[in-house]
Amino acid sequence: MIEVHEMEKTMIEKDDLAEFQWESREEGFAALEHEVIYRELCSGCGLCVAVCPEDVIGFGEYPRLIGKCVNCGYCLMACPRSFLPKAEVEERLLGEAGGELGVVKGVYSVRTKEKGQDGGFVTALLKYMLKKKLVDGAVVSDLDPSKPWKPMPRIARTAVEIETAAGSRYSTSPNLMTLKVAKQKGLKVAVVGTPCHLDGAAKLKAYPVEGAELGDLVRYTVAVFCKSNFIYPMVGEHLAGKEGIDLAKVDKMDIKGKHLIVYEGGKEKKILLKDIHGYERLGCKVCDDFTGRFSDFSVGSVDSEAGYSTVITRTKEADRILKDMKKEGLIEVKAMGVDGLPVAHKLAEQKKSRARKEVAKIRRDALPLPLKYLGE
Ligand code: SF4
Ligand code: SF4
Ligand code: SF4
Repeated sequence: MIEVHEMEKTMIEKDDLAEFQWESREEGFAALEHEVIYRELCSGCGLCVAVCPEDVIGFGEYPRLIGKCVNCGYCLMACPRSFLPKAEVEERLLGEAGGELGVVKGVYSVRTKEKGQDGGFVTALLKYMLKKKLVDGAVVSDLDPSKPWKPMPRIARTAVEIETAAGSRYSTSPNLMTLKVAKQKGLKVAVVGTPCHLDGAAKLKAYPVEGAELGDLVRYTVAVFCKSNFIYPMVGEHLAGKEGIDLAKVDKMDIKGKHLIVYEGGKEKKILLKDIHGYERLGCKVCDDFTGRFSDFSVGSVDSEAGYSTVITRTKEADRILKDMKKEGLIEVKAMGVDGLPVAHKLAEQKKSRARKEVAKIRRDALPLPLKYLGE
């Protein structure tokens, strides 16, 4: 479990915002709009919804105000895209600054009998954590029953709910908004998400927002490797509309190389990523983290054989849990070592390089980035 190391927890007071030179800091939700949303930095993590004490932030593809804002400023303070000094957060949470792929305790290729994406490790891990009562539930992305292949965050509390939610969806799921429910019900949870979700979870732990004590509820974090993501119209307009895919028959989607592969009733349909580039979530362009460096476990498929998950453990406890699962016969494990991740290294470097260029563009367009953004 990631815990705060050495330095004491620092509560962020409203006045601290002055440090970040935001003229609009007194303007409540409007400040979040000006500093993050309108500047196309929002990753869609959902944390602002969870910390709002007035419950006035709704979420479509982006957060929006749905009631009277009292200008407390919590949403902007908590948002991982307002400021996130990554090296400092890494030191606080993992006790050291990591290399290119973050802090690494172990790297493994893992196979399970579960049905989830690739080797099914995430499903097996969450079921194990529930069974051992390490957590009361898991924050996951499930499917919205009202719209085909639209992700919907939920807290899965049974093995069946975890199995139902397994698999990748490739459009925005504001998973962290469910932390509000976890707080109301007093649940300790594992959070599964893309690296940007875990930026939010890490920021909650490293800089707890006064009045919104959510960080301690997050017991474990599991990051899914992520190169980029899409807004939901990619599914509704492009896959169903332009490609004529019957979404009701789709069992699985997967990104491999230059394609999004859609498995529709036993057939594979390959969609070129460049053809759906226009639906990319704007906040993904400045994202510089492929593996999720603030997680206990990072999981993906690159660098492992088909049917296996690549797993990076970043804490001693995560490594022990993986080894206990192996001892109990729940997973087959092959040790890889960090040198066994050439593709992950390459994709991580590509992502960083693109983020640097996008940030430079925002600077050229005279849209000042919040201080310390991307570790500056
Ligand atoms: S968190 Fe505070 S500033 Fe943000 S929308 Fe809610 S009430 Fe307004
Ligand atoms: S990045 Fe997360 S916290 Fe920030 S505005 Fe977007 S959804 Fe809200
Ligand atoms: S590319 Fe970054 S911002 Fe976009 S979904 Fe993946 S982790 Fe989140």
